Amino acid sequence: MKDWLIIGGGVQGCTVASFLLKSGKTTVDQLSIIDPHEKPLSNWKRMTGLIEMPYLRSPFVHHIDAAPFSLHAYGKKHYELNHFYGNYKRPSLELFNDHCDQSLQAIKLEKCWVQGRVKGLKKEGHWVLETEDGERLTAQNVVIAIGVTEQPHWPDWAKEVKKAIPSRIYHIFDQEVKRTDDFSPPFLIVGGGISAAHLAVKLSKQFPGQVTMVTRHPFRLHAFDSDPGWLGQKYLRSFDQLACFKERRDKIKNARNRGSLPNDVYRNICSLQKQGKLKIVFDEINESSIQTDAQTLTLELSKSGERLSPQTILLASGFEPSMPGKEWLKPLVQNENLTCAECGYPIVSKDLEWCPHLFVAGALAELVVGPAARNISGARMAAERIVSSI
Ligand SMILES: Cc1cc2nc3c(=O)[nH]c(=O)nc-3n(C[C@H](O)[C@H](O)[C@H](O)COP(=O)(O)OP(=O)(O)OC[C@H]3O[C@@H](n4cnc5c(N)ncnc54)[C@H](O)[C@@H]3O)c2cc1C
Repeated sequence: MKDWLIIGGGVQGCTVASFLLKSGKTTVDQLSIIDPHEKPLSNWKRMTGLIEMPYLRSPFVHHIDAAPFSLHAYGKKHYELNHFYGNYKRPSLELFNDHCDQSLQAIKLEKCWVQGRVKGLKKEGHWVLETEDGERLTAQNVVIAIGVTEQPHWPDWAKEVKKAIPSRIYHIFDQEVKRTDDFSPPFLIVGGGISAAHLAVKLSKQFPGQVTMVTRHPFRLHAFDSDPGWLGQKYLRSFDQLACFKERRDKIKNARNRGSLPNDVYRNICSLQKQGKLKIVFDEINESSIQTDAQTLTLELSKSGERLSPQTILLASGFEPSMPGKEWLKPLVQNENLTCAECGYPIVSKDLEWCPHLFVAGALAELVVGPAARNISGARMAAERIVSSI
């Protein structure tokens, strides 16, 4: 039996592992981290690689290693200055990923890695976890660090197109999408946020004049996903005092700059638009917009009536907001009498403990950690809370 078992080896799970190991609260032989992928951070690397995001949106102090300035120190030693962007010194994706790999290597995370997908968790004095392959793992303490990244959001009209001509429409973050080279132009990118914009930059450089980006709303310019005041007491003090979890959920919804993008990315798409390489349309698609048969795909935009005939539609429409992992978390909630808010998400203590020896991080911790919970800063806040409580 292990001391600690982390479910999910993404940004959140790896950050918790790093804090647990570096604080000396556990050791490599007493920790397991289970994830369906062969290697840590696979989802993160696939998603950010697919859209070729050059720089992170978050500043250099947000990374997965326990030492707060380690990314900065690593970058200064091994990279040119241009790997830090702008006033917030946002790290390049290359630097960030390299630093992740180095940090995980330093704590020997590969020795803790178990490849598998959890399908059940129950308490038999200690925790017993079962994987889809029928493997059983046991531990004293469990951290659930699965995120929403496996539930891309598909609008209803897009589901209809998928049914009719499956090979012509994808969500860019579908697990099955490994690279964009398999897709044919002309492209229609659906979405107006940072992922849609990065994807538009990438594809319109590769296929100038063959990329249209359609967004329902004017561009929402914000440096970050949420105001940095949410990283400290400025906003979290009053958030902590809210006893009503519906109010907390509303606060989170209002605080998140959904579908937004920072200025530099906005400038990039505007420049490509001016050069005629990218077309940007402010309009909507709905079920009645679509005409398909086995060969053709035509969309009529709701407001302008303009007709588009893309070869490939790529959705960059974010993720489903509902609680991830419902299929195996629901029985756990019932059997252990765990409390959940109206929105379905866990109600946990300030230490992110759902019940004795069961912790959460990332999206599942957001009713306590707040709007930044899903981000790298949120991973650090969750890891700090868990580690300092034990
Ligand atoms: C394109 C993109 C760019 C982003 N850029 C930034 C940024 O610059 N700064 C920032 O702070 N945030 C950013 N984010 C937001 C956030 O930091 C990332 O989405 C991050 O990957 C979330 O971490 P996670 O651990 O929740 O999810 P993931 O990294 O996806 O990891 C979750 C892991 O849990 C695994 N898992 C799920 N279910 C199970 C199960 N049943 N059993 C075992 N394992 C399971 C998954 O397979 C996955 O490997 C970005 C997000 C995206 C999509």
